[in-house]
Amino acid sequence: MAKKQFAVIGMGRFGSSVADALSKLGFEVLAIDASEQKIQEIAGSVTHAVSADTTDEETLRALGIRNFDVVVVAIGADIQASILTTLILKDLGVPRLIVKAQNELHGKVLSKIGADKVVFPERDMGLRVAHHLISPNILDY
Ligand code: ATP
Repeated sequence: MAKKQFAVIGMGRFGSSVADALSKLGFEVLAIDASEQKIQEIAGSVTHAVSADTTDEETLRALGIRNFDVVVVAIGADIQASILTTLILKDLGVPRLIVKAQNELHGKVLSKIGADKVVFPERDMGLRVAHHLISPNILDY
């Protein structure tokens, strides 16, 4: 069976960490960011790295984004760009969409427009740390 192909949009701390980890695990990863500098920084760690504005539907179509098994949207501060990107990816028929949310309301909108999983990295990590502190025998949460 062919290995899953991943695309990660937004090379902030979260997105670049996801892209780098998937790549180290042996998967094909396309990294996308509007910033040319971010793309230069990640280029050596992933299969392909492209500088593009993902709020433009034609750009995403031209990148063949619907052929990826999973797309991770890790755009943070620009909530509008995150929502528009998610909506376009959903319309283009991406099979599985994982999206990072900035806050609860942002997360709600993302779920409503079809994100398959919404993650809150800071909140989720805080929860994990708290659980580790009270139950040192639990290896993962
Ligand atoms: P982290 O906490 O993971 O570092 P963050 O929440 O601070 O991230 P940002 O730095 O705001 O998130 O965004 C992450 C990346 O998303 C940035 O590198 C930014 O260039 C990219 N980005 C923002 N808007 C777009 C867009 N329209 N198209 C592509 N990339 C974008």
